[in-house]
Amino acid sequence: VLLDVSEITGPVLVVAPHPDDETLGCGGLIASLCQKPIAVHTVFVTDGGSSHRQSGQWPRKRISALREQEAEEALFLLGAAQQDRTFLRLPDAAMPPDGTPEYEIALKRVEQIVATLRPSHAFLPWRRDPHCDHRDSWSLFTAGFRQVGHYPQVLEYAIWLDELGTGEDFPTPGEVERVELDISRQLDLKRSAITAHRSQLGEIILDDPTGFSLTPATLDRLIKPIETFWRSCPAP
Ligand SMILES: [Zn+2]
Repeated sequence: VLLDVSEITGPVLVVAPHPDDETLGCGGLIASLCQKPIAVHTVFVTDGGSSHRQSGQWPRKRISALREQEAEEALFLLGAAQQDRTFLRLPDAAMPPDGTPEYEIALKRVEQIVATLRPSHAFLPWRRDPHCDHRDSWSLFTAGFRQVGHYPQVLEYAIWLDELGTGEDFPTPGEVERVELDISRQLDLKRSAITAHRSQLGEIILDDPTGFSLTPATLDRLIKPIETFWRSCPAP
Protein backbone atom coordinates (compact mmCIF):
# COMPACT_ATOMS: atom_id res chain seq x y z
CA VAL A 1 0.00 0.00 0.00
CA LEU A 2 1.28 3.48 -0.79
CA LEU A 3 1.07 6.12 1.90
CA ASP A 4 -0.54 9.21 0.44
CA VAL A 5 0.82 12.21 2.31
CA SER A 6 -1.99 14.36 0.95
CA GLU A 7 -4.33 12.34 3.17
CA ILE A 8 -2.42 13.52 6.22
CA THR A 9 -3.83 16.81 7.39
CA GLY A 10 -1.96 16.73 10.66
CA PRO A 11 -0.80 17.48 13.20
CA VAL A 12 1.73 14.67 13.17
CA LEU A 13 3.73 13.18 16.01
CA VAL A 14 7.12 11.58 15.30
CA VAL A 15 8.69 9.58 18.13
CA ALA A 16 12.44 9.01 17.94
CA PRO A 17 13.96 6.79 20.66
CA HIS A 18 17.36 8.34 19.93
CA PRO A 19 18.58 11.37 18.02
CA ASP A 20 19.15 9.92 14.47
CA ASP A 21 16.04 7.68 14.44
CA GLU A 22 13.93 10.65 13.28
CA THR A 23 16.04 10.90 10.13
CA LEU A 24 16.76 7.20 9.59
CA GLY A 25 13.13 6.18 10.00
CA CYS A 26 11.11 9.25 9.07
CA GLY A 27 13.43 11.84 7.48
CA GLY A 28 11.68 11.80 4.12
CA LEU A 29 8.28 11.90 5.77
CA ILE A 30 9.25 14.88 7.97
CA ALA A 31 10.69 16.74 4.98
CA SER A 32 7.62 16.12 2.89
CA LEU A 33 5.23 17.22 5.66
CA CYS A 34 7.27 20.38 6.24
CA GLN A 35 7.01 21.23 2.56
CA LYS A 36 3.20 21.22 2.69
CA PRO A 37 3.37 22.57 5.48
CA ILE A 38 1.86 20.43 8.21
CA ALA A 39 2.67 20.62 11.93
CA VAL A 40 5.13 17.89 12.91
CA HIS A 41 6.17 17.53 16.53
CA THR A 42 9.25 15.35 16.98
CA VAL A 43 9.86 13.81 20.39
CA PHE A 44 13.34 12.54 21.19
CA VAL A 45 12.81 10.05 23.96
CA THR A 46 16.28 9.23 25.28
CA ASP A 47 19.32 11.45 25.61
CA GLY A 48 21.46 9.23 23.38
CA GLY A 49 24.21 9.45 25.99
CA SER A 50 25.22 5.78 25.89
CA SER A 51 26.68 5.61 22.40
CA HIS A 52 30.31 5.88 23.57
CA ARG A 53 30.47 4.53 27.11
CA GLN A 54 34.23 4.23 27.29
CA SER A 55 35.13 7.66 26.03
CA GLY A 56 37.17 9.67 28.53
CA GLN A 57 36.74 12.96 26.72
CA TRP A 58 33.05 12.53 26.17
CA PRO A 59 31.21 11.59 29.36
CA ARG A 60 27.53 10.88 29.10
CA LYS A 61 26.32 14.45 29.72
CA ARG A 62 28.59 15.89 27.07
CA ILE A 63 27.48 13.29 24.51
CA SER A 64 23.82 14.02 25.28
CA ALA A 65 24.30 17.73 24.72
CA LEU A 66 26.13 17.07 21.46
CA ARG A 67 23.41 14.73 20.26
CA GLU A 68 20.72 17.34 20.92
CA GLN A 69 22.65 19.80 18.79
CA GLU A 70 22.94 17.17 16.07
CA ALA A 71 19.19 16.50 16.26
CA GLU A 72 18.47 20.22 15.97
CA GLU A 73 20.70 20.44 12.92
CA ALA A 74 19.06 17.38 11.34
CA LEU A 75 15.59 18.91 11.81
CA PHE A 76 16.86 22.16 10.31
CA LEU A 77 18.19 20.29 7.28
CA LEU A 78 14.86 18.47 6.87
CA GLY A 79 13.07 21.82 6.78
CA ALA A 80 11.66 21.45 10.30
CA ALA A 81 13.49 24.33 11.97
CA GLN A 82 10.20 26.05 12.78
CA GLN A 83 8.50 22.89 13.97
CA ASP A 84 8.13 21.82 17.60
CA ARG A 85 10.42 19.29 19.16
CA THR A 86 10.73 17.89 22.68
CA PHE A 87 13.71 16.22 24.31
CA LEU A 88 12.46 13.93 27.07
CA ARG A 89 16.08 13.14 28.04
CA LEU A 90 15.42 9.70 29.46
CA PRO A 91 18.58 7.66 30.00
CA ASP A 92 19.75 5.96 26.82
CA ALA A 93 19.49 2.15 27.07
CA ALA A 94 17.99 2.48 30.56
CA MET A 95 14.50 3.92 30.21
CA PRO A 96 12.58 3.73 33.49
CA PRO A 97 10.38 0.64 33.71
CA ASP A 98 6.62 0.84 34.16
CA GLY A 99 5.77 1.12 37.85
CA THR A 100 8.66 3.43 38.80
CA PRO A 101 8.22 7.12 39.74
CA GLU A 102 10.48 8.08 36.82
CA TYR A 103 8.18 6.22 34.43
CA GLU A 104 5.15 8.05 35.81
CA ILE A 105 6.87 11.41 35.26
CA ALA A 106 7.77 10.48 31.69
CA LEU A 107 4.25 9.23 31.02
CA LYS A 108 2.78 12.50 32.32
CA ARG A 109 4.96 14.45 29.91
CA VAL A 110 3.87 12.21 27.05
CA GLU A 111 0.24 12.70 28.03
CA GLN A 112 0.73 16.47 27.96
CA ILE A 113 2.24 16.32 24.48
CA VAL A 114 -0.53 14.07 23.16
CA ALA A 115 -3.30 16.13 24.78
CA THR A 116 -1.90 19.38 23.42
CA LEU A 117 -0.99 18.23 19.93
CA ARG A 118 -3.86 15.80 19.40
CA PRO A 119 -2.07 14.23 16.44
CA SER A 120 -3.98 12.73 13.54
CA HIS A 121 -1.02 10.44 12.84
CA ALA A 122 1.77 9.15 15.03
CA PHE A 123 4.97 7.56 13.75
CA LEU A 124 6.37 5.26 16.41
CA PRO A 125 9.27 2.84 16.44
CA TRP A 126 8.28 -0.72 15.58
CA ARG A 127 6.85 -2.32 18.72
CA ARG A 128 9.32 -5.23 18.61
CA ASP A 129 12.35 -3.55 17.12
CA PRO A 130 15.30 -5.34 18.72
CA HIS A 131 16.51 -2.40 20.80
CA CYS A 132 15.12 -1.84 24.29
CA ASP A 133 14.64 1.92 23.85
CA HIS A 134 12.70 1.43 20.63
CA ARG A 135 10.33 -1.03 22.28
CA ASP A 136 10.02 1.03 25.44
CA SER A 137 9.29 4.18 23.42
CA TRP A 138 6.50 2.37 21.60
CA SER A 139 5.06 1.22 24.94
CA LEU A 140 5.38 4.65 26.56
CA PHE A 141 3.52 6.45 23.78
CA THR A 142 0.94 3.70 23.40
CA ALA A 143 0.24 4.11 27.12
CA GLY A 144 0.08 7.88 26.63
CA PHE A 145 -2.59 7.58 23.91
CA ARG A 146 -4.60 5.30 26.17
CA GLN A 147 -4.30 7.62 29.18
CA VAL A 148 -5.45 10.63 27.19
CA GLY A 149 -8.05 8.67 25.26
CA HIS A 150 -6.74 10.06 21.98
CA TYR A 151 -5.94 7.48 19.33
CA PRO A 152 -4.09 8.74 16.27
CA GLN A 153 -3.49 6.52 13.30
CA VAL A 154 -0.23 4.82 14.25
CA LEU A 155 2.45 3.90 11.74
CA GLU A 156 5.55 2.10 12.94
CA TYR A 157 9.04 2.17 11.49
CA ALA A 158 11.70 -0.48 12.07
CA ILE A 159 15.34 0.49 12.39
CA TRP A 160 17.15 -2.62 13.66
CA LEU A 161 14.73 -5.40 12.81
CA ASP A 162 16.28 -6.45 9.50
CA GLU A 163 19.78 -6.60 10.97
CA LEU A 164 19.19 -7.91 14.47
CA GLY A 165 15.68 -9.28 14.57
CA THR A 166 14.79 -12.88 15.26
CA GLY A 167 11.61 -14.67 14.25
CA GLU A 168 9.21 -13.35 16.82
CA ASP A 169 10.34 -9.73 16.38
CA PHE A 170 8.82 -9.65 12.91
CA PRO A 171 5.15 -8.92 12.27
CA THR A 172 2.88 -11.91 12.43
CA PRO A 173 0.42 -12.62 9.60
CA GLY A 174 -2.49 -10.19 9.78
CA GLU A 175 -0.88 -8.06 12.48
CA VAL A 176 0.03 -5.09 10.32
CA GLU A 177 0.01 -3.96 6.73
CA ARG A 178 3.06 -2.57 5.01
CA VAL A 179 2.79 1.04 3.87
CA GLU A 180 5.35 2.69 1.63
CA LEU A 181 6.07 6.36 1.21
CA ASP A 182 7.81 7.58 -1.92
CA ILE A 183 10.46 10.00 -0.70
CA SER A 184 12.50 10.23 -3.91
CA ARG A 185 11.99 13.99 -3.97
CA GLN A 186 13.08 14.31 -0.31
CA LEU A 187 15.95 11.83 -0.51
CA ASP A 188 18.67 14.48 -0.83
CA LEU A 189 17.33 16.24 2.27
CA LYS A 190 17.35 12.95 4.17
CA ARG A 191 20.91 12.21 3.05
CA SER A 192 21.98 15.64 4.15
CA ALA A 193 20.17 15.40 7.50
CA ILE A 194 21.89 12.17 8.48
CA THR A 195 25.28 13.86 8.10
CA ALA A 196 24.24 16.09 11.03
CA HIS A 197 24.57 13.07 13.33
CA ARG A 198 28.34 13.17 13.13
CA SER A 199 28.89 11.50 16.51
CA GLN A 200 27.09 8.41 15.17
CA LEU A 201 29.09 8.33 11.97
CA GLY A 202 32.49 7.68 13.51
CA GLU A 203 33.36 11.35 13.75
CA ILE A 204 33.97 13.67 16.71
CA ILE A 205 34.16 11.05 19.49
CA LEU A 206 37.38 9.30 18.63
CA ASP A 207 38.65 7.88 21.92
CA ASP A 208 36.29 4.91 22.28
CA PRO A 209 36.95 2.02 19.89
CA THR A 210 33.89 0.25 21.30
CA GLY A 211 31.69 3.26 20.54
CA PHE A 212 28.64 2.97 18.34
CA SER A 213 28.85 3.85 14.69
CA LEU A 214 26.26 3.56 11.95
CA THR A 215 27.71 1.28 9.29
CA PRO A 216 27.54 2.05 5.57
CA ALA A 217 25.33 -1.04 5.21
CA THR A 218 22.82 0.29 7.75
CA LEU A 219 22.80 3.68 6.10
CA ASP A 220 22.29 2.14 2.65
CA ARG A 221 19.46 0.02 3.98
CA LEU A 222 17.63 2.92 5.61
CA ILE A 223 18.31 5.76 3.19
CA LYS A 224 16.43 4.76 0.08
CA PRO A 225 13.74 6.39 -2.11
CA ILE A 226 11.07 4.55 -0.13
CA GLU A 227 10.30 4.78 3.59
CA THR A 228 8.45 1.78 4.94
CA PHE A 229 5.96 1.78 7.80
CA TRP A 230 3.63 -0.73 9.34
CA ARG A 231 0.06 0.16 10.07
CA SER A 232 -1.97 -1.95 12.45
CA CYS A 233 -4.68 -3.97 10.79
CA PRO A 234 -8.12 -3.24 12.20
CA ALA A 235 -9.24 -5.89 14.66
CA PRO A 236 -11.33 -8.51 12.82
ZN1 LIG B 1 17.57 4.21 17.99
